[in-house]
Amino acid sequence: MSLSAPSGCPVIIGGGLAGLMTALEMAPEPVVLLSAAPLGCKASSALAQGGLAASIGGDDSPALHLADTLAAGDGLCDEAVARRIIAAAPAAIERLEHFGVAFDRARDGAPQLGLEAAHSRRRIVHAAGAATGSELMRALVAAVRRTASITIVEGFEARRLLVEDGAITGVLAAGASGELSFATGRVVLATGGVGGLFHDTTNPLGCFGQGLALVARVGAELADLEFVQFHPTALDGAQRPMRLISEAVRGEGAVLIDETGRRFLADLPGAELGTRDAVARGVHRHLTRGHRVFLDARACLGAGFAGRFPAISGYCRDAGIDPALDPIPVRPAAHYHMGGITVDADGRSSVAGLWACGEVASTGLHGANRLASNSLTEAVVMAGWVAKSVTASPGMGRKTIAMPSVPMRPDPVLVRSIASPALGVTRDGESLREAALTLLPLAGGASPASDPAAVALMMVVAALRREESRGAHSRADFPLRATVARRSKITLVEALETAAALDATPLARSA
Ligand SMILES: Cc1cc2nc3c(=O)[nH]c(=O)nc-3n(C[C@H](O)[C@H](O)[C@H](O)COP(=O)(O)OP(=O)(O)OC[C@H]3O[C@@H](n4cnc5c(N)ncnc54)[C@H](O)[C@@H]3O)c2cc1C
Repeated sequence: MSLSAPSGCPVIIGGGLAGLMTALEMAPEPVVLLSAAPLGCKASSALAQGGLAASIGGDDSPALHLADTLAAGDGLCDEAVARRIIAAAPAAIERLEHFGVAFDRARDGAPQLGLEAAHSRRRIVHAAGAATGSELMRALVAAVRRTASITIVEGFEARRLLVEDGAITGVLAAGASGELSFATGRVVLATGGVGGLFHDTTNPLGCFGQGLALVARVGAELADLEFVQFHPTALDGAQRPMRLISEAVRGEGAVLIDETGRRFLADLPGAELGTRDAVARGVHRHLTRGHRVFLDARACLGAGFAGRFPAISGYCRDAGIDPALDPIPVRPAAHYHMGGITVDADGRSSVAGLWACGEVASTGLHGANRLASNSLTEAVVMAGWVAKSVTASPGMGRKTIAMPSVPMRPDPVLVRSIASPALGVTRDGESLREAALTLLPLAGGASPASDPAAVALMMVVAALRREESRGAHSRADFPLRATVARRSKITLVEALETAAALDATPLARSA
C-alpha cells in the first residue's frame, strides 16, 4: 500500500518529543508523522522525570550552564554547538508553553527550578513534580492532533530508507495492518535511543536503535557510539524497563548507602551529586564487590517524599517500598545514548535529504557524558532548527517509488545478551573483541537479529577503538584519559570490516 501524502511531503519517523516538536514547528508545511506506537506511548520522552535544563534562574546564566555541560562532557563536547543550544534553551521552554505544556510554578508565578547532579545552579524546569514527560506528551500530542497539516500514521514502523545516487527517495514501513511506502526526498529520523539493547535499562524496550540501523544501512556516518550513559539509580527489581529514581531525589539530599548503612560515595567529588558516569561507576563497583546499594531519602524528605515525588513514590509503593521509611534498592541501568547520527548545526546527516533530531542524533552537545536534563532541551531546540532546514530544502517531484520487499520485524532479544556484558558500565578489550566476533555474522545476515546486531556491532567496534577511559566510556584495560580528546566517527561498512579483520587476527582469538 502506498500512502498519498502531498508531493514531496517530508516524513518524520518517531512520535517522541523530537518527532512531535519537529512536526509542530514545520506547520503549516504538510508533513507525515510516522510512529511505531500510538503517539506519546513507548517513547523515552513520556518517562522523563527531572525536566529540561535552562538557565532562567536569577543566579544563573548560559555561561554557567555551558561550563557545567562541558565539565560533564569530559573534553568531548563540541563547544560551539553546546553554546548555541544552551543559549536557545530558555526560548525552548517558552515554545513548549506556547504548545500548552504546563510547568510547575511557585506561588509568585515563577517557574520552580530543580537541582540535578553536576549542575551548579537550580535550573531544571519540571512539570507535575517528577512527571515532566507525561505532561510534555499530553500537551504536544494534543497539539499535533489538532494541527491539520500533520498526517499522523500510527502503528507503523519504518523498516528501510530508500536511497538513489546518495539521496533519500523514500521510506518503507510495516505494521499490523500491512506495509506502507512513502515517496519522499526529505526524512527526519527521531527514533530515540538504544537502551533496549541492554538487559538493565530505563528505556522502553522498543527503543533499541532502529533509527541507527536504518541510516547505517544507507551509508550514513555515526558519531561517538561507544558513549552510553548508565543512570546510577534505577529501582532494583524485576520490572523492565526499570523505574528511575530521578537525580532530583539526590538533589533534595538523598544519599547512597549500602546494606551496612555506610555512605560509600561520600569521598567522590560532588559525592552523590557527582557526574552520572562517576556515580554509576561507584555504584557498579560496590555492587560487583558483593554489596547492595540503596538510595536513602528518609532524613532529607521523609514524609514529604510522596508530596514532592508522587510518581516515584508510586513506583516504590508498587515494589513494596515506602521511601519515607525504607531505603530504596538501586542499580545502574542503560539510560541515554550520547552517540548517534552525525548531524550538523541544522540536524542534517551525511546523507542528502536525511535529518536527525533528539536522542538518535549526535550534535556534539553531550560529549562523553550528558549533563542531566540537557537532552529534552536539545530535542526541543534542535526540532526548531531541523524544521526550518527541512522546510527550506526543496522536496522531490516524484510521487511513486519501486517497492522492494520490506525486511522482517527486528528483534533485539538475542543481541541483548551479547551487548549487555560487553558494553556495560566498565568494558575491556577482550570482551569487546568477543562480542564483535559474535555480532559480525548476525549483522551481515537477514534475520530479526540483524538490525539490532548491526547497531551493537558499530557500538562495540567504536568502544574497542577508543583505547582510553573518558566520560561514560570506562575501559578496565585503558583506565587513563588520552591527552587529546577526539570524537569517533564510524559507518556500518567500517564496523563490518574492522570486525572481519579481528576474526583474521590469531591473537584476537587466542588472547
Ligand atoms: C526514564 C527516563 C527518564 C528521563 N528523564 C529525563 C529528564 O528528566 N530530562 C532529560 O533531558 N532527559 C531525560 N531522559 C532522556 C530523554 O527522555 C530522551 O533522551 C528523550 O525523550 C528522547 O526523545 P526522542 O523524541 O528523541 O525519543 P523517544 O521519546 O524515545 O521517541 C522515539 C519514538 O520513536 C519511535 N520509533 C522508534 N523506531 C521507530 C521506527 N522504526 N519507526 C517508527 N517509529 C519508531 C518510538 O516508538 C518512540 O515513540 C529520560 C529518559 C528515560 C528513559
